[in-house]
Amino acid sequence: MEKTNLIKLEKKLLGAQKAYEKILIKIKKYPDYGIGEEDNVQEIEEFEESLGLRKNIEKALKEVGRAIRQIKKGKYGICLSCKKEINPKRLEIYPSATLCVACKSERARRKPWLRFPWRG
Ligand SMILES: [Zn+2]
Repeated sequence: MEKTNLIKLEKKLLGAQKAYEKILIKIKKYPDYGIGEEDNVQEIEEFEESLGLRKNIEKALKEVGRAIRQIKKGKYGICLSCKKEINPKRLEIYPSATLCVACKSERARRKPWLRFPWRG
């Protein structure tokens, strides 16, 4: 991959990392929904929603961090599974992608529960 593209992507990833961290701080600020004596269904639903959101963001944050480390190591854009180069167009859309399209769809076929749109 060209160096100018890499720099652009690294900036994008760092920006995403910051944004995710901000959201996480926000979520962590309101951990107490006060679920107690009165069963407030809506509160419970909101609580569960925020837990799910937090998990997803933590996962995304991990992936972004990994991509940044790969850039620093000069190994960015290499598929973790088949060690081939990941299509740069794919990386533009999913900068934190760690698998090429072929390996990704192979994995999704075997493990359908991993098929989430936010995981490149
Ligand atoms: Zn691959």
